[in-house]
Amino acid sequence: MSAEDTLARLPEEWQSALGAVGEPRFRAQQLFRWLHVRGQSDPDKMSDLSLAFRARLREAGLCAPLRVDAVHESRDGTRKLVLEARDGARVESVIIPMTDASDADASAAPSDDDEEAGVEGARSKVTLCISTQFGCAMGCVFCASGQAGLIRGLRASEIVSQVYLAKNYLRSGELLSNLVFMGMGEPLHHYDETLRAIRLLTHPDGLNMSPRRITVSTVGLVPGIERLGNDFGGKIGLAVSVHAPNDELRDRVIPMNKKYPLPDLMQALRRYPLPRRRRITIEYTLIDGVNDAEAHARELGQLLRGIPCKVNLIPMNPITASELRAPKAESVSRFQEVLAAAGYSCFVRTRRGDEVAAACGQLAMADDLVRKKRACEELRAAHKNS
Ligand code: SAH
Repeated sequence: MSAEDTLARLPEEWQSALGAVGEPRFRAQQLFRWLHVRGQSDPDKMSDLSLAFRARLREAGLCAPLRVDAVHESRDGTRKLVLEARDGARVESVIIPMTDASDADASAAPSDDDEEAGVEGARSKVTLCISTQFGCAMGCVFCASGQAGLIRGLRASEIVSQVYLAKNYLRSGELLSNLVFMGMGEPLHHYDETLRAIRLLTHPDGLNMSPRRITVSTVGLVPGIERLGNDFGGKIGLAVSVHAPNDELRDRVIPMNKKYPLPDLMQALRRYPLPRRRRITIEYTLIDGVNDAEAHARELGQLLRGIPCKVNLIPMNPITASELRAPKAESVSRFQEVLAAAGYSCFVRTRRGDEVAAACGQLAMADDLVRKKRACEELRAAHKNS
């Protein structure tokens, strides 16, 4: 039993594992609660477990899969956690206080079902943005993680651990209300661990998060969208990075489009088993001179016709690996107006946390990776030439 795997086990799996070594069944639930509700992975602190059982856990090497390396706080209250895995991989998560505007733009997830999860209106809600991979294989031209390439996927234990660690950095009165898989990586390219992480987070014996408060953001991997829809009956919120209204342009911005072109993607969105009154979030990163013309906005309106959705415009955040830039504010507003006139609810995602490089696609470590990769390539080239 490795430390990483202990946090990835569901209560049912604990029951059979513990049953096999002669522990009573109720231990499974007790242990799961320590790990997933109290975020405690030090056996010595699990006070209601017998000393013998705690010793057993210690011997098995139970410990947290991530440790907090640094916390950067931005003036707008956004907090970026830099977390280190046991092999040295660094993972980032971002705590984002929900302002009225961010609530309205629904960048995080819907706020129309507050009663359902017992979220009290008086407390201030925060969204947590978590990562699923270290780097990313999708190669989107405007994204730091995409330019870095994929180093490795995170284990389910490392995915859920981001949530438990982040909870320690909430201020009093703050409530973790929404969880978005919008950090580094492509969650649907790392489906099994993402699925397990969601199962752990939504388990009634654990944090018991409502699936409606979880949003998975994808570049548009069609088989993954279908699996997510089937596995959770459409209850998990879906955000899709569209970024271009036609295949010719999208091929250039998102290489994965060649494999899953827009007609296939739109069909997958139409089939996603959304509950009534829920909508898919369409993300559209606006890049100056690339996809920001009024004609693109009109074409996007046509493309999305008939899909229950809202559109989130994200003026591109600058990254080291690219010269691409955000359009001028006027172009952003015009783009928004065209879509609004076509009947879409369309919001510009406010830039949060950029002082601490926590804005979309900016996770600093990804930029760092690109620099390191370039340095390695230069070294290799120099070596070859010498
Ligand atoms: N792989 C998932 C999650 C990635 S990040 C996906 O593609 O959806 C979440 C969002 O940030 C995506 O819409 C992504 O395209 C966007 N993004 C990435 N880099 C960005 C940048 N530099 N500026 C603005 N948005 C960016």
